Amino acid sequence: MPELPEVEVTRQSFCERIHGARVTAVRVGKPLRWPLGVVPDSLVARTVGEVARRGKYLWLPLEDDGREAGGLLMHLGMSGSLAFSPAPGDAGVHDHFDLVTSRGTLRLTDPRRFGAVVWSASRSDGMAAKLLNGLGLEPFDPAFTGAHLHAALKRRRVAVKLALLSGDIVVGAGNIYACEALFAAGIDPRTRSDRISRPRAERLAAAIRDTLARALALGGSTLRDFRDAHGMEGRFQAQARVYGRAGVPCDACGTPLRRIVQGQRATFFCPTCQRR
Ligand code: ZN
Repeated sequence: MPELPEVEVTRQSFCERIHGARVTAVRVGKPLRWPLGVVPDSLVARTVGEVARRGKYLWLPLEDDGREAGGLLMHLGMSGSLAFSPAPGDAGVHDHFDLVTSRGTLRLTDPRRFGAVVWSASRSDGMAAKLLNGLGLEPFDPAFTGAHLHAALKRRRVAVKLALLSGDIVVGAGNIYACEALFAAGIDPRTRSDRISRPRAERLAAAIRDTLARALALGGSTLRDFRDAHGMEGRFQAQARVYGRAGVPCDACGTPLRRIVQGQRATFFCPTCQRR
């Protein structure tokens, strides 16, 4: 599943090239998670503004005579990828949305169709507001501090891993990244969130930022021809210290790593290095 780093690398792969491009056609394929919410042809002749990311959503503002006139909120779902190319060729069976512009076509390919492209009058209106309002802080937002994380964890009584995965404290700590950050911070993923001390919350906040920064750097290094978000996740996983490594000796202490299931998701951790 494309996670925050993959979505950010995707954004960087086309943001500059599409900025200022004029929409010349919109092609909608099979239904995605939600309907587009606007007559596709009404977007023609608008100009693409600066593409932004919030959590795992991308926001493509569309301008009319230099004024923002709505935009498209995009999500890659479980299996989606976005590519921007001058001549993409005919749409294939899994290509469900094309934004054709004067500079090239932005195409969403999504075999499982859990992805979405949704029109809203602005980021703070309609469907966009509904989807974005409940999101936690961005991991690189200066407001995401150990103190913030500590206070947010205190307000709930679930395993710390599940608190991270919920996405309403901080976005971006998807399954792999949450496992790796908890290992880096030395915290047992089963620890109840309200029992995490302030110093441990500080370490965890730093570990979340570091883990995501490493994933971004990895994606950044392969930005050229970037198309397959799963390829990037795979490369990060190859460097993972706990994720996907059940039974393998911990590279810090030699204890065999363990796999458990929390909230239907696999959790990997070191029973020695990570404490409750
Ligand atoms: Zn260990």
